[in-house]
This record gives sequence, structure tokens and C-alpha cells, in this order.
Amino acid sequence: MPSFVIVEKCDGCKALDKTACQYICPNDLMVLEPEQKKAYNQEPDQCWECYNCVKICPQQAIEVRHYADIMPLGSSTFPLRGTDSIMWTIKFRDQKTMKRFKFPIRTTPEGSIDCFKGKTMPTADDLKKPGLYTGPARTE
Ligand code: SF4
Ligand code: SF4
Repeated sequence: MPSFVIVEKCDGCKALDKTACQYICPNDLMVLEPEQKKAYNQEPDQCWECYNCVKICPQQAIEVRHYADIMPLGSSTFPLRGTDSIMWTIKFRDQKTMKRFKFPIRTTPEGSIDCFKGKTMPTADDLKKPGLYTGPARTE
């Protein structure tokens, strides 16, 4: 099932220019309803359930439910994001059993990565070369 916003929890990211869920969605699906200041998924059919919006929402206001054949109805999966890890909470269908898993998410300080460090601006000729711009430099 695509992502959906729990409206009671969403605070519209406190009227920032762009909400966290808008910023992170690779498919530009999240929008903010201007009057209520609540986010919603404008095109659920296009959601590929990547969980990015679920992970970034500071209010834990977004949920993605897996299909009933792999995630029985009533269970849920919630991430709680820290600066260096995500704690996943899995609630089972009986609403009592819970499991938690903590995974590290980075090995460098937040905001310290320079994606284009050491790279020069690509030119049209670079399109003819094999390899990827972000890949290691070729020597031959
Ligand atoms: S990131 Fe969360 S709190 Fe912010 S607008 Fe989206 S759903 Fe609401
Ligand atoms: S689950 Fe992924 S594709 Fe779907 S709305 Fe959230 S960020 Fe976008």
C-alpha cells in the first residue's frame, strides 16, 4: 500500500518552505494542503513504497502498510530516525507483540558529505565515454 499521512500527527513541518516529505520523495508525490497545513500523497498509484518519507517525517506521521499477503492487516512498521541510526518498531497483528531493530545509517557526521568533491563539471563529450560520472575515474 502506498504511503498515507496520519493527519492528527502531521504539523505541516511548521510551515517550512518545503516539508521534509516533499524534500525527500524521489517521485515528488507529497504535497501540503495550504489551508489545513497537512501533507498528503497526491498520486498514491505512483508511490513505490520506498519508505523515504516515512523515515524522514519528524512527527512519525506517515505510514506505509505492506500488502496483506506479506504483512497481515493490523500490523505496522515504524522507523524512529536518529542522527546515526534508525530504530524500526514492528508491531504484530495481535497488537501486543513488538520487535525492535536498530540499524546504523551513516558513518560520517551529518551534513559533512560533499557529493561532488574532486569532480569537474561534465561536458557534452563526457556523454560518449563509458562509465558513470559518479563512478571511479578511468585510467585508460
Ligand atoms: S514530513 Fe511529516 S510532519 Fe512534515 S509535512 Fe510531511 S507528514 Fe507532515
Ligand atoms: S514511500 Fe517513497 S515514493 Fe512513496 S510517497 Fe513516500 S517517499 Fe514518495
